[in-house]
Amino acid sequence: MTDYEISKNAKLKKIFDIAKKYEIPEDSLRPYGDYIAKVDYRLLYESKKDFGKLIFVTGITPTPYGEGKTTTVIGLIDALNRLGYKSVASIRQPSLGPIFGIKGGAAGGGYAQVVPMDDINLLFTGDFPAIEYANNLLASLIDNHIFHGNELGIDSRKIRFRRAIDMNDRSLRSVVVGLGGSANGFPREAGFDITAASEIMAIFGLSLNINDLKKKLGDILVGFSYDKKPIYARNLKAEGAMAVILKRAINPNLVQTLENSLAFVHGGPFANIAHGTSSILSIKLALKFSDYAVVEGGFATDLGGEKFLDIIARLGDLKVCAVVIVATTRALKYHGGLNVDYIEDGSKNLIRGLQNLEKHIENMQVFGLKVVVALNKFSEDTQEEIKIVKDFVESMGVGFALSDVWAQGGKGGEELAKKIIEVEEERTPRFIYKLEQSPKEKIERIAKTIYGASLVEYSQEAEADLKDVSLVGMDNSFVCMAKTPLSLSADPKLIGRPEDFKIMVREVRISHGANFIVPVLGKIMTMPGLPKVPQAVKFDIFESGEIQGIY
Ligand code: ADP
Ligand code: MG
Repeated sequence: MTDYEISKNAKLKKIFDIAKKYEIPEDSLRPYGDYIAKVDYRLLYESKKDFGKLIFVTGITPTPYGEGKTTTVIGLIDALNRLGYKSVASIRQPSLGPIFGIKGGAAGGGYAQVVPMDDINLLFTGDFPAIEYANNLLASLIDNHIFHGNELGIDSRKIRFRRAIDMNDRSLRSVVVGLGGSANGFPREAGFDITAASEIMAIFGLSLNINDLKKKLGDILVGFSYDKKPIYARNLKAEGAMAVILKRAINPNLVQTLENSLAFVHGGPFANIAHGTSSILSIKLALKFSDYAVVEGGFATDLGGEKFLDIIARLGDLKVCAVVIVATTRALKYHGGLNVDYIEDGSKNLIRGLQNLEKHIENMQVFGLKVVVALNKFSEDTQEEIKIVKDFVESMGVGFALSDVWAQGGKGGEELAKKIIEVEEERTPRFIYKLEQSPKEKIERIAKTIYGASLVEYSQEAEADLKDVSLVGMDNSFVCMAKTPLSLSADPKLIGRPEDFKIMVREVRISHGANFIVPVLGKIMTMPGLPKVPQAVKFDIFESGEIQGIY
């Protein structure tokens, strides 16, 4: 059966009944039909209540197909619930870019899914459109201000704020706006980012309440004036209207798993070109109403992992109980040199590929955290292969569990759940960098400690950007790297555990409202493109309402 068919056969419970099991008060819910609800974020600040423990799920360097982190998160909460621990997931909402590109969906897989999966994957409660509109309202206010006389003296060549759309569309990376004569404004170079990489998405995911949201929106750096003064969104009085657009969206969304466990799905920053975790509000609410909250960070430890621990855990004052690193034999063999599309036998490659896993384990141990490796079982995995991975992980003194949640749901996650329950202590991560360090020192710390680079170089553009970083008082901000997820380095071709490589910082974007800088490494783009045969061509819908193409 396909994921979609499995999800259609699920026995869903009313979302009100699920919420009740977790003692979430009914009057804080805003339903969207029977199975989806938003929960008023103010619930977080209402009653005092003990928080549960946080389990963070990350992975080894993935193949383009994804190695099953979301699937593992969902199976793991089902398993913990089976064992009598009230557990909740907090995951991101999928972006339409990858759904119509390669991935086809991101609501788990097999018997570990969140439902209704088609709604979750396709626009859901409208949060992404709201984020996009808030973004593009500011863009419109900027060009409108220039059109009507440009009182602030905005230098149209120095506008840093970009438009956003939730599509993979490479032709929008660089555009010219304002063509067509004086009635249409002043022509200038502009560009689009995918919504999941926009600063509004980041701000949305980091805000703690409406006032905080407004402050961060107002703090967005629009660009510079002719006399080189920074112009912020608040100078255009944009933040009120932007926050109004986000009024509903800021409340986290609740859905359920196939086994009726509660899951938050809220916010969707990519981990390669943004910070890569669900909203802080949804993570904190998940902690408030559970014994265990399981949170996914996108891609591997070098991206979603580092960013969650250095940025989100620090900002949100979060302690971490255990880190789960998801691995597959497919990705390990790939890192040992096998072509990802023709992987069958290859224990030699598997053994060679273990170096990639080794580095990711070390990366999480640098933060002083307890690690458990979950091998996400594929049906073609042999006993011999499983033993190779298990022996290696245990030889490092790290916990290992075979996870079979894709085939078996929560039952297949009990081994993993039990390994986690053994970890009692919660720890504050040992952050990789101090905020007081200079931007270059911080970038170097991440590149050398986490990626394994030997040298960091800067383009002329990046050097100039770093001057702007100082100019707007961002030397002490967080760092949110943008790089390929397909290698520990910034070069997707360097598989395994690359060594002795250089990192080139091409440019440094400034997310002043979100309080981080974004060093852009190598050839990574903040607006992805579609592959030659996009998943979109396989989509269809029928009179019955059934959909095809999503998985
Ligand atoms: P990630 O979150 O790491 O990107 P996902 O959990 O979204 O990965 O899984 C990626 C894809 O792989 C999904 O389509 C999912 O159904 C599939 N998948 C995950 N685990 C398995 C498995 N054990 N066997 C077969 N397919 C799997
Ligand atoms: Mg995922």
